Amino acid sequence: MKYPDMFRVEPGTKVKLSQMEAGDTGDNRDEAAAQDELGRLTKRLAELQYLLYAESKRSFLIVLQAMDAGGKDGTVRHVIGSMNPQNATVQPFKVPSVEEMAHDYLWRVHKVTPATGQVVVFNRSHYEDVLVVRVHDLVPKEIWSERYDEINAFEKLLSDNGTHIIKFFLHIDKKEQLARFKQRLEDPTKQWKISESDYKEREFWDDYQKAYEAAISKCSTEDAPWYVIPANHKWFRNLVVSRILVKTLESMDMQFPQPTVSIEEIRRQYHVAVEESR
Ligand code: AMP
Ligand code: MG
Repeated sequence: MKYPDMFRVEPGTKVKLSQMEAGDTGDNRDEAAAQDELGRLTKRLAELQYLLYAESKRSFLIVLQAMDAGGKDGTVRHVIGSMNPQNATVQPFKVPSVEEMAHDYLWRVHKVTPATGQVVVFNRSHYEDVLVVRVHDLVPKEIWSERYDEINAFEKLLSDNGTHIIKFFLHIDKKEQLARFKQRLEDPTKQWKISESDYKEREFWDDYQKAYEAAISKCSTEDAPWYVIPANHKWFRNLVVSRILVKTLESMDMQFPQPTVSIEEIRRQYHVAVEESR
């Protein structure tokens, strides 16, 4: 299979993360060339987003998941940062509030899915309910084990109603995570990002990898595919995510709407008259 489609998880495939190279850079050895391409791609992304908004028939949902320090924030900044914030928003998911906990786990999610013409990026998502929740037994297994089917049904509902969904797992390895924690400790502008809980969660690395493998394997569908992105190298991660987004948006074959008024009539009746009176 050809790059970057090779990072797409075909529905029904069982993913084994330890066999997927987090440090992969494909044929791209040159970071400078990658930056040039990234510049072109992010410009194209902005154009496609404008078209999505102009067409206003469909919406676009991007799900970002990763281990701590996996690069979700950086991906938002570098890749999605080029989009017009009027029609593209980022939705973070934190520990559920008391009100959220009093509802089913998809309640808070459904409310913030994109309206037609809009792009929404989920920084974490409903997948936390089969990740952190599964790893720490926050609900019994009988409950979380039903959620894969529920999530697939939920995403199908969104997809059937015009939401295009694409899901990225930013795959770093354990060594890279520690290196990033260290950078955060040493850089005064990044120290605010690190906490004890990051190190505590790291002890559950293997459990998280297993939970991710289950979620990605069970919930990569034609309607809402998962992509596993090699993310040790930030520039390669940005490049691959951008390529996939551009390709996906282009495949949606969006069209500018036909004007609802007669352009010729307006030109003749109004514009020419206004120009003549100047
Ligand atoms: P951060 O994204 O680093 O600001 O951290 C957000 C925290 O919220 C992470 O530790 C997540 O695991 C946690 N979180 C997000 N969604 C849920 C959820 N549904 N249940 C429990 N914890 C969650
Ligand atoms: Mg964090």
